[in-house]
Amino acid sequence: MSNILYQTLDEEKVFKDPVHRYVHVKDQLIWELINTPEFQRLRRIRQLGTTFITFHGAEHSRFNHSLGVYEIMRRIVEQVMDSLQWEQRDRLLCLSAALLHDVGHGPFSHSFEKVFDTDHEEWTQAIVTGETEINRVLRKASPDFPQKVSEVIAKTHENKFIISLISSQIDADRMDYLLRDAYYTGVNYGNFDMERILRVMRPHEDYAVIKYSGMHAVEDYIMSRYQMYWQVYFHPVTRSSEVILRKIFQRATELFHSGYSFKDTPTLLMPVIEQDIDLDAYLQLDESIILYYFQVWKNENDPILSDLCERFMNRKLFKYIEYHPSEQMTLWKELVECFEELGLDTDYYLEIDSSSDLPYDFYRPGEDGERIPIYLQMPDGKLAELSTQSDIVEAITGKKRTDHKLYFALDLILEKEQDLKYRETVAKIKTLLDIT
Ligand code: ZN
Repeated sequence: MSNILYQTLDEEKVFKDPVHRYVHVKDQLIWELINTPEFQRLRRIRQLGTTFITFHGAEHSRFNHSLGVYEIMRRIVEQVMDSLQWEQRDRLLCLSAALLHDVGHGPFSHSFEKVFDTDHEEWTQAIVTGETEINRVLRKASPDFPQKVSEVIAKTHENKFIISLISSQIDADRMDYLLRDAYYTGVNYGNFDMERILRVMRPHEDYAVIKYSGMHAVEDYIMSRYQMYWQVYFHPVTRSSEVILRKIFQRATELFHSGYSFKDTPTLLMPVIEQDIDLDAYLQLDESIILYYFQVWKNENDPILSDLCERFMNRKLFKYIEYHPSEQMTLWKELVECFEELGLDTDYYLEIDSSSDLPYDFYRPGEDGERIPIYLQMPDGKLAELSTQSDIVEAITGKKRTDHKLYFALDLILEKEQDLKYRETVAKIKTLLDIT
């Protein structure tokens, strides 16, 4: 039997996809990767974490997105194969890395990682190179193939061009998630003309460049990304649900360390809570497991854990106000004092959340991380960095925007108002938070 790199399916498999219409699979290797338990697990992990609490359509999974990134990559590779004289091995390296780039994501990734100090990129490496079905399939290509795929995802592979197709400022990952997240949230911001961008992309040494005639399509892409971050990804209501989610994990961990006995031991979560998690235990986790425990914990004896779970499951979120750390240092202190007077735990019911984004930047020497700029190929064949040609992009280049918000459980504060002895403190909090 020939090597899996050269095996094709008797009949091409076609997945119906609302964003790209169809996802085409004809390689045996890709088909086998999709059918591994580790890849199928991505069906049970939402692409946008708790965003569905704000935009109810955002129920799409990492599985959808990963297939989408694969499909965009398949189309890019088809275009560049001949000009780069690629072999089948390079082609499948690209496609496998695109398909598997997010395979290490855990349930509610960002909140989960913050509290339990895990890293989805490290888990992706572990899944690709460890004892998994994915690893077994990749090894059919060659013993070092899993390592090569892992290097592309980790951005350490020697072929910088391949890396740039998966992670740069214009890559298959971003193009898919912007279009997909816009589609599923129902917003208009994320749309841009991907077909046009793919048509004007040209390989150039270590990265892909864009033909000058495609500049406006790229401007539109950069603006889409900018708007999606502020309108969708950093939506204050979503962040409120993330704060609660983090507080639940934090409370469960604290209870465990204080010797609390859960009514029903959260067996599948114990390895993370005890900070002693191996690959098998990690792969057991998905969002249905987490939501199951939240449902169970609503009935726990600990009032804070039970209240936080009730909030998350029934969307009783924290309220928020704008917060300016440099000007409002005393506000925080005064609030903490008032909360303590009311007997409200500030570790769980008061929180500052900060989000920041840098929409686009050119390479600045001496900075951490190499940021590959987007280059335009000018009519004379020379390259020009995008912000030198586009006024719109120049306006947001290098501008990091940060937003801080103060989250609090307003309902618990107002409940205390009924009690005469707390009335004054509640009035003070209302003034501090500017609540009428
Ligand atoms: Zn991704």
